[in-house]
Amino acid sequence: MNISSRLPEVGTSIFSVMSKMALEHQAINLSQGFPDFPVSEKLIELIYQAMKNGHNQYAPMPGVPALRQVIAKVIEQTYQRPTDFETEITITAGGTEAIFSAIAALIGAGDEVILFDPSYDCYDPAIRLNGGIPKHLNLKATDFKIDWSEVKSAITTRTKMIMINTPHNPSGAIMQEADMRELEKLALANNLIVLSDEVYERIIFDGQIHQSVLRYPALAKQSVAIFSFGKTFHATGWKVGYTVASEMITREIRKAHQFINFSVNTPLQFALAEYMSDPDNYLHLGKFYQQKRDFFLEQIKGSSFRPLPCYGSYFQLLSFEGVSKKSEMEMATWMTQEKKLAPIPVSVFYKDGLDQKLLRFCFAKGDATLEKAGKILKAI
Ligand code: GLN
Repeated sequence: MNISSRLPEVGTSIFSVMSKMALEHQAINLSQGFPDFPVSEKLIELIYQAMKNGHNQYAPMPGVPALRQVIAKVIEQTYQRPTDFETEITITAGGTEAIFSAIAALIGAGDEVILFDPSYDCYDPAIRLNGGIPKHLNLKATDFKIDWSEVKSAITTRTKMIMINTPHNPSGAIMQEADMRELEKLALANNLIVLSDEVYERIIFDGQIHQSVLRYPALAKQSVAIFSFGKTFHATGWKVGYTVASEMITREIRKAHQFINFSVNTPLQFALAEYMSDPDNYLHLGKFYQQKRDFFLEQIKGSSFRPLPCYGSYFQLLSFEGVSKKSEMEMATWMTQEKKLAPIPVSVFYKDGLDQKLLRFCFAKGDATLEKAGKILKAI
């Protein structure tokens, strides 16, 4: 039997490929982004209690009300945006489902979506699976800044959405207030929906402020903000996230969400509601990861790899321009197999495969692991 693939050129995600390679070659795995720190005992206890208390059947489709209420409060405190938990927040099975549901609900055949490369790997296929047309614009090292006049020229009558990601995976760049003002202007003037991937909202450094779309009332009305508990509570395997959007947009997102996932793990939602109500459980994350970033940078001092600026996320880019002429993919493979340290090549995040001799390293790891990784990098 022949089937025609909807995504003929798509292979297995680079994160799975590199993690598998790291395992096979017993390499330190700084490729796929996930923390190796334990989840809080208290949070695990709360899940156990929720299960014991009988919260084991389907949650309401948009999410457990207690969790959505806490989220609304946190959003108001963090971004000064009043949010209606009944109509504007939807719990999803992680950031990836949130992104897919939003695109499935809002993008149809022939709709154009502007996105910036290097872009996270699920964006482009999610657009195409739903009949949309991705329009990739390149951001380049070392600052990965958006050129708003280029964005303006890329907008056509068919442009329906623009996707942003701050703090940015894989570059660690962040958007500034001036970027948000430009974005707001363009979104309003062209009736665009902004899909804003903010899963690293709490991992931001050096006194910088996370520029959520939710800080800008007019922009927020036309936006879908995407968040993830996995990044904030060291639990990427739990796959719980949420969307924040106006009532009108949320209504559409839920139409897709209810048939893609219906509802999300119930006991986790009860536990997260309680855990999140104590700001102490998330307010120190930026400081924690800043120390990790600095520790990693300390370990690689004196190596021929050159670090790029990193203001947020748990990823550090290193340039190997002074080390090898290999392609990024060759370099990542060689390092994993021969040097026992696995990174992610940045070129895979570019539609056109742009190779800037950059590798991405995840520093959400224990100090001993980062120290070992540093030794390997210094010896190359
Ligand atoms: N977000 C993680 C990263 O960028 C990967 C998640 C996944 O493997 N799908 O590395």
